[in-house]
This record gives sequence, structure tokens and C-alpha cells, in this order.
Amino acid sequence: MNILFLGAPGCGKGTQSKILIEKYGIAQISTGDLLREEMSSQSDLGEKIRSIMAKGDFVDDKLVLSLVSKKIESNECKKGFILDGFPRNLSQAKSLDTLLENMSKSIDHVLFIDVPDEVLIQRCTGRLLCDTCDYIGNKDRGENIGDPCPVAEGTLYQREDDKEETVRNRLEVFKDQTQPIIEFYEEKGKLNKLIGGNDPKLLASKINKIINI
Ligand code: AMP
Repeated sequence: MNILFLGAPGCGKGTQSKILIEKYGIAQISTGDLLREEMSSQSDLGEKIRSIMAKGDFVDDKLVLSLVSKKIESNECKKGFILDGFPRNLSQAKSLDTLLENMSKSIDHVLFIDVPDEVLIQRCTGRLLCDTCDYIGNKDRGENIGDPCPVAEGTLYQREDDKEETVRNRLEVFKDQTQPIIEFYEEKGKLNKLIGGNDPKLLASKINKIINI
């Protein structure tokens, strides 16, 4: 099963992906994570990515496409995959179509999670990550930068691009670049629109109904 999540930063794509990974044993392909991995290698390319990400702008289409293509071809994706954060513009969406066609694969479900801007800003600016595991905390729950992770032995930190000014730019870039993809999949009759921003479990059960039809 191959799934594509669409939605603005903070809409819950990552959280819902993790639920599906556990349930179906499929792999998550998060281009944000792949780019952060490249950044942590401190290569020249990684430093270039860091400065683009810090502004909330998009990294070069060709680079992102090559990361995705390598991952889809890997053993990890044999049972299927979830695309999270890719495609992010029309050109990437068209390249994905060609890539999958050449691999005789296709996307089974496109899931767009729609969340109001104010909720997205609050979620992103409050979001705290663990430097050791995939725990996601939030300042709303009384957690702070530097706190010990409640799950692993890590420490909570804030992503550089979750600062308010950058989050606002990321939302603008989403509206400008990513919104047209929603119409692209709608025209193909593949789009499922879900209202997010509330209980993640409720959203997970709605997603479950769609993918089990
Ligand atoms: P994310 O973790 O999905 O919120 O992505 C964080 C940042 O990585 C984005 O703000 C972009 O700078 C970059 N990025 C992630 N995915 C893509 C993509 N498909 N195309 C271009 N840039 C991307």
C-alpha cells in the first residue's frame, strides 16, 4: 500500500504516518527527515540545505527527487511507503508520477489533512522534539526546551524552522507552491480531504476507514 499525505507544516502528517507504519509495516519517506539527515553529516550540501531550511524555503527539486527515488527503490519500501512532505510543488508531483510509472508503482490513497492556520502556527511554534527518539512534545503541555524526554534518555529541543517567523513563511510557501497539488490530485479523482486539528486518534480512525475500503 502506497500512501501520500498532503498538508501544511504541523497538520499531523508525521503523527499519522507513524500510526500507519506501526499498523501496516510500511516505510515512511519524510523528505524533511532525509534532508535533516544530510544536514547532520555537516557536508557542504548539508550546510546549503541548512540555510534554505532556516528560511522556510524549498530545497532544490532534483535533490529531493533523487532522495525519494533512492528510498522507494530500497528494501525498506517493499511492502509499501508513505510519502510525507513530498511532493511539495506541481513539478515534484509530475516527476513523482513519471518515477512511479517507470517503477510500475502507483499511489493508492492521497490524504489531505486540512487544519486552520492559527492551529498550525500554535502547533509548530510549540513543538519540541527529542534528540534521541521520535517523541514529539509541545510547550502547550508544559514541556520546555532542554527538558528530559519522557520516553527515551534524550533531551527536548525546538527545530530551527519552527520559530514563528519561519513557520509563517512556510505557511505562505505552502499556499503558494503546495496548494496547486491538491487540485492536481482532485482532478485525478484521488484526493481525500480530512479535517484535522483535533484529536489525532479520531483522525487516525477516519484515515483507517478510507484506506480499508
Ligand atoms: P518538513 O520536515 O516536511 O516540515 O520539511 C522541513 C523543510 O525541509 C521544508 O521547510 C523545506 O525547506 C525542506 N523540504 C522538505 N521536503 C521538501 C520538498 N519536497 N521539496 C523541497 N524542500 C523540502
